[in-house]
This record gives sequence, structure tokens and C-alpha cells, in this order.
Amino acid sequence: MTSSARILFAHDDRAFGRTLTWLLTEHEYQVTSTGTGPGLFEPLGNELWDLLVLESASGVDGLDLLGRIKSDERFQDLPVLLLSTLPPEEGSVEAFGLGAADFLAPPFRAREILARIKAHLRAGRALNRARAEARSRSEMVGILREIASSLTPEEIYQILVRRVAQGLGISKCSILLKTQDPTRAVVVAAFENPVLRNLRVDLDRYPEIRRALDTGEIVLSDAVDSDPLFSATREAWREEGQAVETTSTLAIPFTVGDEPLGVFYLRTSGEDTVLNQLDVQFADQVIKSAVTSIEKAYQLKDVVEGHRQLRELADTDPLTGLANRRALERRLLRDLEQAAKYSTVLSCLMIDVDHFKQTNDTFGHQMGDLILSQLGRLLKREQRAIDMVARVGGEEFCILLPLTGPNGARILADRIQRRVNAERFGDEHQPVQLTVSIGIASFPDDRVRDGATLLQLADMHLLKAKSDGRNRSRD
Ligand code: GH3
Ligand code: MG
Ligand code: MG
Repeated sequence: MTSSARILFAHDDRAFGRTLTWLLTEHEYQVTSTGTGPGLFEPLGNELWDLLVLESASGVDGLDLLGRIKSDERFQDLPVLLLSTLPPEEGSVEAFGLGAADFLAPPFRAREILARIKAHLRAGRALNRARAEARSRSEMVGILREIASSLTPEEIYQILVRRVAQGLGISKCSILLKTQDPTRAVVVAAFENPVLRNLRVDLDRYPEIRRALDTGEIVLSDAVDSDPLFSATREAWREEGQAVETTSTLAIPFTVGDEPLGVFYLRTSGEDTVLNQLDVQFADQVIKSAVTSIEKAYQLKDVVEGHRQLRELADTDPLTGLANRRALERRLLRDLEQAAKYSTVLSCLMIDVDHFKQTNDTFGHQMGDLILSQLGRLLKREQRAIDMVARVGGEEFCILLPLTGPNGARILADRIQRRVNAERFGDEHQPVQLTVSIGIASFPDDRVRDGATLLQLADMHLLKAKSDGRNRSRD
């Protein structure tokens, strides 16, 4: 990255022009020399200059030219050092009035000119930086406001790439996260392709990203076509017959918690203005300010996920993986409300294994557990998507059947009984046969007021099925 200042030097006196141009070049400034005629406006407008040095043989013409330059909005902030032949007092007052940054009268001494140029360049850069900071601060407030209203890290990543690409006027801006594999990263957001998500990329092709992730430091390359960092990449592009389209790249690593998480990745090509230190400052500031929000979003995600897992755990029977009584009661409450509200029906089957104590005594408690989990799977296979199968006691199961009346419930009970009778439980060494008894209750029914009375009625019918000889259902 070259940091030498760019000076446009417009002069009347050829010999003086040559001397000063040589002197400035010797001091490592980038100098473009031009005349003071109307042709001056072309280089002036086509490029960005840090300073204009204006030398005019006729003091009046010099002031006139300065006046015309300063009346153009594009050049109002450009510092101008006027070297004029006017008497110092008179000339300086007029020149400053017209917006010159400085005024020098003859005799022109090399050392003095150099000192003034140095001072103005410093002042000009400080001014530019202050302006850029002011602009980026106000932009930052907007970005942070938008981020603050987003809940997920993914949303934040999308906002960041869009706002930074737009803020810097570049077409390619993305965020990549580290993976376990140091040679791979995953793209989580890309301005150039908003639908692109979770694309894995090979970091051998992106040495700047690899370096940023490995070192934790910002990597800026403003000359991809010659930077040694890209020599292997350029070679690969050449072998594939690909033109080097990227002109500059910037990879800013970021950390969430204490974990290096990924990089903010910017690229320019074609007409984009090559990335410079001001862009680095802006993008770095944005990503640093966003880190807290990203952190919060991840914590929130963890909490939500944690809640979901806890809730699932609290609602699940560990032996069979089925819903437990608590989950069944909650679901029953909701389904009964719906059935009452829309005048629909609902049934429940209470299923109890016959003589299970005996099964335990014969085959052991461990085998008993295996059999219960096998029975759970069998019942689950019989359920429709809207039904709920729960384990409500040791060897008792309940199936909740929304939108099902007594007839439908009886048909299902019969089918379950046939399936259980046909099934061989246990393992291949010890096949075990089972029977179950089933009590059926349905809503609406005069005896059913709520979930508890529905389950009581089903229990009552289950007892009847037992006393009537087991392996049957009653309603
Ligand atoms: P019936 O229901 O036909 O009247 O006879 P039963 O032998 O099944 O009678 P009861 O309901 O009184 O006994 C249930 C038995 O189920 C008691 C216990 O040994 C067994 N049991 C309950 N929970 C578990 C469990 O989680 N694992 C195992 N292995 N056995 C269980
Ligand atoms: Mg029982
Ligand atoms: Mg039993």
C-alpha cells in the first residue's frame, strides 16, 4: 500500500516547474505537472489530489484561476498552495479570501516550499480523516439501530454485508465463519448473492482469509495482481484460464466471546475504487460495534434452544421417548377446548398391559423395560399425525385421538389388540407374547367435563375390560 501524497503542480514557468517537480519526486511525492491554462481542469477533476500547488507568472492571473477553482464545489476542500508574484501583503489577503490554504511570495526557497507542502498535507489528511469519521459515525448509528432490532445472528450478518457494501460503494462483501477444518470456511452472508447461505469454501483459494483467521490480524491487499500473498492463487487462476478480476481485498477477523469466529471479507473488482486504510477503519469499526449484538443473538439462540430442549426433556418419558403424563394433560386441555369450541369429537384410549407383573417375574425387570419400549414403538406406528401417544404410568399408555368419535376409537383399539397379539416382544432368544386391555372414553359425554374426567372414564372402562377377561376393549 503506497502512502505517498498526490500533488498536482500547475505552473507557468517551465524551468521552475521542472526543478520543483524533480524536488518533490525526490521527496517521494507523486507529482503530476501541468500548465495553468484551461487544460488544468482536466487532471484536476479526473483524479483525487491531496494538494494543488499553483504557480502563476502573473499574480492577477493566478488569483483569477484560484477563484475559478474554488468556485467549483468539487474542489472546495482541496488545499491550494499559491506561489504568486504579487506583493506579499496584498497577495496573501486576496489569496486567503479566495480559499487558498497558503500563499508564498518570491524568492521561492526549496526548503520553505517543502516545509509548507508537508504541513498542508498533514492538515489536509487530518481534515479528510475527520470528515470520513463523521460520515462513518452517522452511518454507524444507522447500522447499529438496524442490527439492534434483529434477533438472529443470520439476520445481523445479512444487514452487515448490505450496509458495508453500500457504505463503501463496493460490490462484494461477505461474512465467512471458521470451521473445524482450518482449510475450510463457510459463507453465512454475501451481499453479491443474498440467497447464498452455508457455502463451504476452500481457503487455499483465499490466502488473505486464511491469514486473517490464522493470525487474528486484518489483511489488506490493494494490489492483488502483484501481491506475493496471491502468487499461488494467481498461478491457479492462470492455469484455469481465469482473468484476475479482483483488484483489492480486505479480510477483517472478528471474535465473539473469546472465540475467533470468522472474517468480514470485502473485495473490489472492475470499476470499484480500490480499498484503502479509511475503508479498513470503517469496516473494522462496524464489525467491532456489531460484535456485541452478534454475541447477544448467539446467547439468545442458545437460551431459546436450551428452553426447547429442557421443555422437550420435561415432556418426554425417557424409557420410550413418548410424551409423558404432563405433556398429555396439557395437550388434552387444548384439544378439549377446541372440540368444545368447534363442536367436534375427541376420544382417548387407556391401554394397560395384562399381567405384566408376571412378565417381569418370568423374564426379569430389564427385559420388562425392553418390552415396554417395544410396545411404545408399536403404538407410535399406529398413530396418525394429529394423535398423541403417551406413557402415563408404569405399563400404561394413553392415545389421544382428536376428531375421532367412539366408532373410530373402537376400530383403532381392535387394531392395536390384533397387532400386539401378533407381535413377538423381547429378543430372538426369548420371544414374549403380550396382551393389552383398553378402556375407551369419548367427548362429548355427560360424564366428561374436563381432561381429568375424560381420563377417569377411560380408566373405569379399562377396569371393566380387565374384569371381563382382559385382552379386550370396553367403552
Ligand atoms: P393386570 O394389569 O393385568 O391387572 O396385571 P399387572 O401385573 O399388569 O398388574 P399391575 O398393573 O398391578 O402391575 C403392573 C406391573 O408392571 C408392576 C410392575 O412390576 C410392572 N412395571 C411397572 N412399571 C414398570 C417399568 O417401568 N418397568 C418394568 N420392567 N416393569 C414395570
Ligand atoms: Mg397397571
Ligand atoms: Mg397391568
